[in-house]
Parts: sequence; C-alpha cells; structure tokens
Amino acid sequence: MLDQQLKNLLRHTDITFQAPSFDAIEVKDAATGVSLAWVKKHDRADVEAAIVRAEHAQALFKQQSALQRADLMMAWYQLILKHQQDLAQILTAEQGKPLSEANGEIKYAASFIRWFAEQARRIDGDVITPVQSQQRLLVLKQAIGVTAAITPWNFPAAMITRKIAPALAAGCSMLIKPAEQTPLSAYALEVLAMQAGLPRDVMITLSGDSVDVGQTLCESPIVRKLSFTGSTEVGRILMQQCAPTIKKLSLELGGNAPLIVFDDANIEQAVKGIMNSKYRNSGQTCVCANRIYIQDGVYDAVSQRVIEEVAKLKMGDGRLADVTQGPLIDEDAIIKVQSHIEDAIDQGAKLAIGGKRLAPDNTFFEPTVLTHVTQSMRVAREETFGPLAALFRFKTEDEVIQMANATEFGLAAYLFSQNTARQWRVGEALEYGMVGINTGLISNEASSFGGIKQSGLGREGSQYGIEDYLELKYMCIDLSE
Ligand code: ADP
Repeated sequence: MLDQQLKNLLRHTDITFQAPSFDAIEVKDAATGVSLAWVKKHDRADVEAAIVRAEHAQALFKQQSALQRADLMMAWYQLILKHQQDLAQILTAEQGKPLSEANGEIKYAASFIRWFAEQARRIDGDVITPVQSQQRLLVLKQAIGVTAAITPWNFPAAMITRKIAPALAAGCSMLIKPAEQTPLSAYALEVLAMQAGLPRDVMITLSGDSVDVGQTLCESPIVRKLSFTGSTEVGRILMQQCAPTIKKLSLELGGNAPLIVFDDANIEQAVKGIMNSKYRNSGQTCVCANRIYIQDGVYDAVSQRVIEEVAKLKMGDGRLADVTQGPLIDEDAIIKVQSHIEDAIDQGAKLAIGGKRLAPDNTFFEPTVLTHVTQSMRVAREETFGPLAALFRFKTEDEVIQMANATEFGLAAYLFSQNTARQWRVGEALEYGMVGINTGLISNEASSFGGIKQSGLGREGSQYGIEDYLELKYMCIDLSE
C-alpha cells in the first residue's frame, strides 16, 4: 500500500488507486503482491494524439535558450533530490529492490539530469577550414525533434532520466513507455518535471500494452528517434519497426558479462567486485557479471570467500532494514535461474550455496554459487539475469580472453589484476563496450554507457550521450559578391 504522501506524488490523470472502470494495468507490490495502483492502458489513438502534442511542445521548447532549458532541468533535479525518499519508496514498492539501492538509483537518476543540464550549454558546432577561399563552412548541431523511449523494469527511474535528460538538453520532447511492471516511478518523475516548470508535453508518459504503444511510436514519421533499453530480441523487433521511417536508434540490449580474476589480483578487491557486480538488484542488471572466470592459482581461495560473502546476504521485503536481496521480477525469471542451475549441475557443476526459490507463492530466489562451471553449459551462453554466480576455472591469459569473447554480446566486462601491463593488454583485447578494471561498479552519468556486437547501438551518459539527440547541419556560405 502507498501512503498518502506517496499518492500525492502520483497525482496524475493516468493513475487511480481503486479498481477503475477504464482499461487499466494493475501495478502490484513486488514483495507482497498487493495492488498499489492502476495506470491507464493507452491505446494506439492515445499514443498518436500524444505524439502530436509532443510535436507542438517541441516546436516551442527548441526555441528556448540553452540556459533556460538548463535552469528548468536543474529545478527538476533539485525536486527529485527533495523527494528522494518518497521516490525510493515508490520504486521499491513496484520493483522490489532494497530501499538502500532504490535511494541510490534515485540519486543516480537525478545525476543524469544535472549532467545534461550542464551539457545543454556546450552543444557547440564547428567551423571547418574551407576548400575555396571565398567560402565559409559551418556545422551546426540542432535538436532531432520528437523522441521516444521504451524502458525496462530493472531501473525504473534511471533508465528514464538517462534518456530524457540528453533529449531535453538538446531541445527535444520525449514520449516514454515504461515497463508494465514499473510505471509509477515514471509518472512520479513526470509529476515533478511539471512542478519544476518544464513545459507541458515535453515529457509524456504512456503506460499501455507494449506491442501497441511500441509499434505506434516506431511507425510514426513524427518521432525521429527511439531509445530502447531491454532485451536483444525486442531490440531486433524495434529496429525492424523503425526501418520504414529511417528512425535514429539507440539500443541498450542484453549482456553476458565476463568477470576475470587473475592470479595476481588483490583477492579481497576481486571478491568485493564480484559481490557488487553480481548481486546488485538480485542479479537483474544488464551489466551483472554472468561468467566469473578465476585463474587456477586463486580459484579455491576466491570461491571460498565468495561463498562466505553470499552466506551473509539477506533476502526479504526491500523496505526492511538490512535486506540486501529483493524478489525477482516474475515467475519467468525464477524459471530461467532454475533452468541454468539444473543444466549446469547435470553437466558436472557443483552447487556451493543457495540453489532454490524461497517459496512457491513468491519470487524470491536464494543467492546461489556454482563452482566447476564450464563453457558448454547454458549459463556460459545466456544471460541469467538472477542471483547466480557461475565460477569458471582457467589457466592462461590467452585462454580466458578467448572464452570471454566467445559470445554474440558485448556490453560490459571486468578484470582484476595488479599488473598494469596486463590490465591494458586484456582491457584492449576484450570485445566489449565497457571494461571495469579492479571494480565491479562502472555506471555513472559521466561515462559512456553502451555495448557493441548484439548488445546495442549508441552511448548513454557522458558527452557522447547527447549526440544521438542532435542532427548535424552543414552550411556552406559563399562570400563572393
Ligand atoms: P525484459 O526481459 O527486461 O523485460 P523486454 O525487452 O521484454 O526486457 O522489455 C523491455 C521494455 O520493452 C519494456 O518496457 C517492455 O514493455 C517493452 N517491450 C516488450 N516487448 C515489446 C514489443 N514487442 N514492442 C515494444 N516494446 C516492447
């Protein structure tokens, strides 16, 4: 149940707290299954009307100065921080992650707004050395126009701000389709954006059936750019749907992150990195270590320490003190983790700790460690997206680079070594968009988050993150009279 203070933050025409008469999506508490609210199920006609509103809003918004846009964004940033606790409560209720992680996510979400508010004033073009002396050649950067975002449930706040902040900084409007499980965080952010004074309809949240809303956004010629975070399968569908209108696309898709611990690593640092990378959000992040490769000489020591740390984790309702592991998002997530464990054990892996769900009527799953995992097992090929640490053994640097790169994914990779030459050598050899060296935490607003191969297109955060919301315009001026 949401208390009155949280309901006030969700004062939006699309939300009701009693079963409504209109077509709606029920939002449930992730830990208890209790109804939290109902959000409107926008149909195709609603989405088309919203696109037109976003177009009108953008035409005016792009005329504001960069400084005005930056100031509005900073006001939004401040309001989010002021309501950090409330936003975290809403996030934990609908998503399930521990309150401490939810608080961290809200701060992280806000950081993108601040970063891109600062960047709004640095959207500089170029003056090119001309070919002919009477010519002047210029490159301007202009807002791409109306944009859309489709976001996942694992970071219900941060995946939205990471997209809309660069859009607003550039002078674009954005239509946002949050995940069905976690629309409340999106609406709360929109309510605060309007309170901060951002013009109406530069941000429009559109809860609804993912196929209907997604397809309408993709097919619209008015929407000039789509940014998506989610699975590679859905990313492929969206790419196809965007082809007829040649829409600009940013895709943050699945990963299958290797985390490599060499014999020369600082073992405690590596264990901390494994715990941070693997068990945050109960293993439900796209940069979670999925394959943990440990070199022969330290395999037993590192495994033992990981098992000890996993034994200290505490599952439960994220609102309770010292809970570190919330529920998984749904039954399918449970089935996936179970199937990876069964397949690995069938092929010779050893269960060191955990291994089963807490109860059949909820979606908590014990933090699990498997040792003696090999490349032929499903967990080597597929992203588990759950609290399963799969520990592989390797002998040489060349062998582990080859194993780490043997995947169609290329999002994040991690390595632990105290040898600087090896850090560079292996860091450069890993075919990934991001490499963490001696750390399991790599995300922040100033870095260029994104993958290569089938993990996606484009970058979010950093000075690169705004480029996808800008068009280049080349102007050639002839000065001869
Ligand atoms: P996950 O496995 O993390 O749920 P998905 O790719 O299924 O990842 O979902 C990410 C987002 O994509 C969610 O907002 C979901 O509603 C949306 N989505 C899922 N299927 C489609 C689709 N066919 N078209 C558009 N959006 C979709």
